Amino acid sequence: MKWSNLKPDYYYPDIFSIDLDQLSSRGVRGIISDIDNTIVPWSEEELLKEVLDWFVDLKERDFKVCLVSNGTGRRVGYFSRELGIPAVGQAIKPAKRAFRQAREKLGLAPEEIVVIGDQIFTDILGGNRMGFQTILVDPLSPKEFLTTRFVRSLEKLVFRRRD
Ligand SMILES: [Mg+2]
Repeated sequence: MKWSNLKPDYYYPDIFSIDLDQLSSRGVRGIISDIDNTIVPWSEEELLKEVLDWFVDLKERDFKVCLVSNGTGRRVGYFSRELGIPAVGQAIKPAKRAFRQAREKLGLAPEEIVVIGDQIFTDILGGNRMGFQTILVDPLSPKEFLTTRFVRSLEKLVFRRRD
């Protein structure tokens, strides 16, 4: 594993803070977004109005969007329908397979794609390995599985979010 693959290209506290103009100017035309703790708190199903509006904004700016999540097919299918965008579930991130499927759905070159997610060892590592650009956001929910909490402390060794 290359350590540089753990480093996000950009960091923002949440999806709303992402500078979409800057992404466009850097050649980004497609967005692969994580679901849990990136657009909804862990295990919740209700999409906030702000989140719905954000996805409308992405469409109006002509970004192609696809969800990629390690969540179950049922849960991922639900968000795919709610947002009207394609999705790949049971992704086993950072494995490349689901990211490859998402890239095919977007029909774009790797350098035109940005991955947005809250976890370095799944979203950022997976995206960087594919040659995508990557954006790390803070997790929406403090409620997490213990394993995730353990991974967070490992992440802190690699990247300090708020420094
Ligand atoms: Mg997540």
